[in-house]
Amino acid sequence: MCTRLPSPFLLLLLLGLSGAASAQERPDGDALFRQLDGELPTPGPTRAASGAPGHRYWQQQVDYRIEASLDEEKHRITGRERIDYRNNSPDVLRYLWVQLDQNTEAKDSELLRIRTTDPVGEENEKSYRELGYEVFRQSFAGGYQIRSVTTASQPPQPLSHTIRGTMLRVDLPQPLQPGGRFSFAIAWSYAIRDISVHSTRTGYELLEQDPKNAIYTIAHWYPRLAAYSERHGWHVHNYVGEEFSLEFGDFVVRLDAPVDVVVAATGELQNAAEVLSPAQRARLAQARAAKEPVFVITPAEAKAAEEAAAKGRPEGRRTWEFHAKNVRDFAWAASRKYAWDAMGVPVGERTVMAMSYYPNEAEPLWSKYSTHAVAHTLEGYGRYLEYPYPVALSCNGGVGGMEHPMISFQRARPEPDGTYSERRKYGLISVIIHEVGHNWFPMIVNNDERRWRWMDEGFNSFVQQVTEGYWEKEYPSRNSARRERILDYMKSSRDQPIMTNTSLLREGGNNAYSKVTLALTVLREAVLGRETFDFAFREYCRRWAFKRPYPGDFFRTMEDASGQDLDWFFRGWFFTADHVDLAITGVRQLELDTRDPEIEKPRAKAREDKRPRRLRELRNAAQPKRVDRHPSLRDYYDEFDEFAVTPTDRKDYQKLLEGLKPHERRLLKLQQRIYVVDFENVGGLP
Ligand SMILES: [Zn+2]
Repeated sequence: MCTRLPSPFLLLLLLGLSGAASAQERPDGDALFRQLDGELPTPGPTRAASGAPGHRYWQQQVDYRIEASLDEEKHRITGRERIDYRNNSPDVLRYLWVQLDQNTEAKDSELLRIRTTDPVGEENEKSYRELGYEVFRQSFAGGYQIRSVTTASQPPQPLSHTIRGTMLRVDLPQPLQPGGRFSFAIAWSYAIRDISVHSTRTGYELLEQDPKNAIYTIAHWYPRLAAYSERHGWHVHNYVGEEFSLEFGDFVVRLDAPVDVVVAATGELQNAAEVLSPAQRARLAQARAAKEPVFVITPAEAKAAEEAAAKGRPEGRRTWEFHAKNVRDFAWAASRKYAWDAMGVPVGERTVMAMSYYPNEAEPLWSKYSTHAVAHTLEGYGRYLEYPYPVALSCNGGVGGMEHPMISFQRARPEPDGTYSERRKYGLISVIIHEVGHNWFPMIVNNDERRWRWMDEGFNSFVQQVTEGYWEKEYPSRNSARRERILDYMKSSRDQPIMTNTSLLREGGNNAYSKVTLALTVLREAVLGRETFDFAFREYCRRWAFKRPYPGDFFRTMEDASGQDLDWFFRGWFFTADHVDLAITGVRQLELDTRDPEIEKPRAKAREDKRPRRLRELRNAAQPKRVDRHPSLRDYYDEFDEFAVTPTDRKDYQKLLEGLKPHERRLLKLQQRIYVVDFENVGGLP
C-alpha cells in the first residue's frame, strides 16, 4: 500500500496516544549490547532458533472457486464461492472465521464508530474533502449482503453462522480434526464504493472527462478465510483499515462482465479464445518474445469502445476465467476504457508476462513507463528471490497504490493535455516498482501485515530503493530524498520503536516505511556490506517464501546467515526509539614518550616555556628577592637547569634501550600521529 490511511483514522490514534510519548530513559551501554533472548519468542518445532521454519512448521491451506458477476449499472458485485479448507494444524477446530472486509463500508462499521473528525479550527472551518466524506458515508450503503452459508455438498445444507462486524464465524457441523478438510459455500453481494473523490483500497472511479465508463479496481471483494496460526490462533482483528493476514491457496475464478469490458486479474487467463479476438491473441503471443511492450488493445481501440458505449451499452456479456496457484489473495480490475500492453520478461527458465492496463487519460505516461517498470521490478526484486508467478500486472484506476498477488493498482496520470511533471513521472515509476514489489512482501513472503506493517512496507520500501538504483543514474528515490525528514522524526518524541504493532503506529509512513528502509540500508552498506547482507536477506526470502514469518524469524535468519551477532543492531534500531546522534566532545593528539633525554627534555622545556603563567607568578617575578640581596644563600640548586641533559640521564636511557625488545625499540621510531577522539552517544543508537 502506498496511499495514506484516511486522515481521521490517523488522527484518532494520535489523540489516543499523545500522552504515551514520554521521554525515554537512555539505557546504559551494557543494556544496548545485551542479547535479544528476552525479546524474541522461544524457538520450537514450528520456528527454529536459526530463524528458519521449524521441522514441524505448518500452515492452513484454503482453495477457492468463485463465480462473480459485475453489474455496471448498479455498481454491484454478486458472487458465489466454494471454499475448501484444509486443517494442517495440530488443533481440532470447531468453527472457522471468515473475513468480511466489505463490512467496513457498512453504516454501522467499527471503522466508522471509532473514527474521529479533523479538528474544527477557531474559524469553525471544515475542509470540503472532509465534509464530502461525511456526507458520502452517510449516504453509501456498503457492506455484504450474505445470501447463504451452506455446505458444499449436494443438496447444500445451511450452516449455522454469526457475523460480528467484519468477521463471520461458521460453526462446523462436526469438529474439524488435524489433517481434515471442510468445504462450504457462501453466496453474497455488495455495492462497490465510488472512489472518484474519496479513495480507499478498492472501488470504482468515474473520470470527469468520461463519467459514463467506470474503472473498477476490485480487492478484498469475496469473503476470505481468516488466518489461523500457531502464534495467534485465529487472526480475528476486525478490519479497520490496516492491511491483511491471509492463507495460501489455489483459485479458480470466473468473472462475468459486460461484453466490451476488459478484465485483468490475479492468475492466468484460461479462456483467451472466448474473450479475446484472434488479432488480440496474436498480439499477446507476439508480446511474449518482444523486447518492448506490445499493445494487445491499443489506446485507439479502447477509445472506440468507450465512445461506442457512451452512445448505447452493447448487449451481451462474457466470462473471463482465471486460475492462480499458491496465492494468498485474488484481485481484479475491469473497464472498457482499458488499453492493454504486454512484454515477456525472462525469469530463470520461464517467461513472465509484464502487463499494463490503463485508460487514454493515463497516456502517454503509461505506455512509456508502466510495463517497463513492472519488468524492472521483476529483475530488481528477483536478485533476492525469483518471481514465481506467470504474470505481473500494473493497472490504472482510482486507488493511489495498492498491491495484490500478480496485480497492482496505481492512480498516477499526466495532466489532461498529456504533459507531466518530473515528480509525476518518477512518482509513477516508483509506485509501480513499490506495488509490484509487494508481490515479494507480503504476497510471497507472507508477512502478517495487520500486526507488523514494517515487515511488509519496510522490506518492500527498502528493496524498492535498491531496485530504483538500477533504473538510471541518481534516480530520485523518495526515501533518499526524505533522509533529513526521517532523521528529524527519529530525534523527535513522536518516534516509536519499529517493533510497534501496526494499530499503535502514530506515523506509519515515517516508522514502517522510511525508518526501516534507513535501518536496512545502514545494515547493508555500513554494518554487513552488500555481499553479506544480500546473502542473508536472500536466505530469509528463500526460507520464508510461501510461509508466514514473524519478526524473530527475520532477526535470527539475518544473524544465522551473515555469521555476525546483530542483536545490538536490531535492539537499537527495532526495539528502541533511539536515534543516531554522536557528539564529538574532544580531539587530542598524543605524542610518543621516547624516554630519550635528548628529545624529551627540550620538549619538556618547550612545553614549560609555552605554559601560560599564572597572575601570581607574573607579579611575584617582579618583586625583590632575598637570595639576590644575600648571594651567600645560593647553592647548586639555584643554578641547576632541570631541562639540561645530564650524563645520568644518558646512562639511564641506554639502560632502558638495552632492556627493550626489538619490536619495542622499533615503536620508539614511530612517525604516525595518534589522536584520541572523545565521543558521547547522545542519540542512544549504537
Ligand atoms: Zn506499500
